Amino acid sequence: MRHIAIIGSGPAGYYTAEAAQKQWGEDVRVDIFDLLPVPYGLIRTGVAPDHQSIKGVSRRYESTAQLDNVRFVGNVTVGEDITIAELQGLYDAVVLATGAPNDKPAGIPGEGLENVFGSAAFVGWYNGHPQFAKLNPDLTGRTAVVIGNGNVALDVARILTKTAAEFTGSDIVAHALHALQKSHIERVVILGRRGPHQIAMTPKELGELAHLTRGCPRVDPADLPDVEEDLFLEPGQRKSVEHLRSFAAIPEEFRCDKPVEIDFDFFASPKAIVGDGRVSGIEIERTVLDENGRASGTGESYTIDCELVVTCIGYKTSPIPGVPFEENAGRFANDEGRILPGLYCVGWARRGPSGTIGTNRPDGFGVIEKIAEDIGVGSGKAGRPGFDRLAEERKLDVVTFRDWKKIEEAEEARAREGAPREKFTDVDEMIKAASKP
Ligand SMILES: Cc1cc2nc3c(=O)[nH]c(=O)nc-3n(C[C@H](O)[C@H](O)[C@H](O)COP(=O)(O)OP(=O)(O)OC[C@H]3O[C@@H](n4cnc5c(N)ncnc54)[C@H](O)[C@@H]3O)c2cc1C
Repeated sequence: MRHIAIIGSGPAGYYTAEAAQKQWGEDVRVDIFDLLPVPYGLIRTGVAPDHQSIKGVSRRYESTAQLDNVRFVGNVTVGEDITIAELQGLYDAVVLATGAPNDKPAGIPGEGLENVFGSAAFVGWYNGHPQFAKLNPDLTGRTAVVIGNGNVALDVARILTKTAAEFTGSDIVAHALHALQKSHIERVVILGRRGPHQIAMTPKELGELAHLTRGCPRVDPADLPDVEEDLFLEPGQRKSVEHLRSFAAIPEEFRCDKPVEIDFDFFASPKAIVGDGRVSGIEIERTVLDENGRASGTGESYTIDCELVVTCIGYKTSPIPGVPFEENAGRFANDEGRILPGLYCVGWARRGPSGTIGTNRPDGFGVIEKIAEDIGVGSGKAGRPGFDRLAEERKLDVVTFRDWKKIEEAEEARAREGAPREKFTDVDEMIKAASKP
């Protein structure tokens, strides 16, 4: 029998469990740990609440979770409740699927001012992550600046712009919905250091901006390269740039109908966030691109007055004591998933924060191949019963998959009309719902 511990119940964790099941069938026991009492990682707390069809992927993980030899061990923080060394003593392989939950700092002065947030915090707030549920961003200002040119920046801009009616069918948490309904924001500026050809935004997400009730995207036609240059782009990117071109062509009279402007500010490098305790502006330097697409400052600068800043510039994995870490890349040091004997990583913890949900599937299958090469038939470790003894000694309040289903049921029962669920945003509330008979 092989005993595998997977740390993290996001896509990478569940794809790894699925791969283990495919590899060994009945001859493996998999425990999937998570620090939250609820599974699925960023599917629950990252993917936008108005993108329910994407969140539907969790049904696939559920069929893995309900296999007899796969267990969810929620509400256990590895590194605090139990160490990696202890897990290694109990399981043949320990796989870190802990994601990349920390915002990369922008590295400019003023990041610590009030009402400046990283996207992990801001997205966690509107998605009800217990760590960020009390963020309470102030939306009474008129201008928000979103730093970054990827899909997370688009998510944040779109969420800041939508009406309550546009959130029908979403699972945006009540506290965020109420705050957004009272928002005074009239302009959302999306800042990118480079130009339209260098964006990391996908066509579907960009296209959504054209259909918002209150928001209207604006692109300065002067920022767009000659249209013939689009031919050199790969098809997806070309489609994205076509959206930007269509935004640049929106007539002014149509724009006037919409009270919120979503303004793409390209070739704009943030230099400092300014304010007296609380953000009141952001200083920007204009950039130009060299022939390799690298941006450099022109010396021309300007300031955007704003009352909210959200940085969407990438994430880092949380280091764990004793586990080799690549500081620059913000992920565990690994060779195709192998970190140290018996210790592996997968998903964002292995690659850093890139790719779609589906990118984590081959990762999961890849790491199980390595584990199969390394552990043979297993070495007679204690596995589950060993962990259960330790959990009892430490009085850990472990949440099982069955408990999670009770939480889910309670969240569905308290959903507002048209919504799939109203998430609990507090761990104690989750545990209480899990403990109901
Ligand atoms: C804002 C945002 C929106 C996104 N939207 C999309 C989208 O629309 N479509 C798409 O394809 N991709 C999207 N992605 C990317 C997608 O979410 C990731 O590819 C995927 O979630 C990475 O999976 P993971 O399992 O590596 O990490 P995660 O999903 O982050 O899962 C990590 C898990 O590990 C747990 N954990 C961390 N540390 C510990 C510890 N010490 N002990 C126990 N448990 C721990 C966490 O609680 C979490 O559950 C989005 C990402 C973000 C940030």
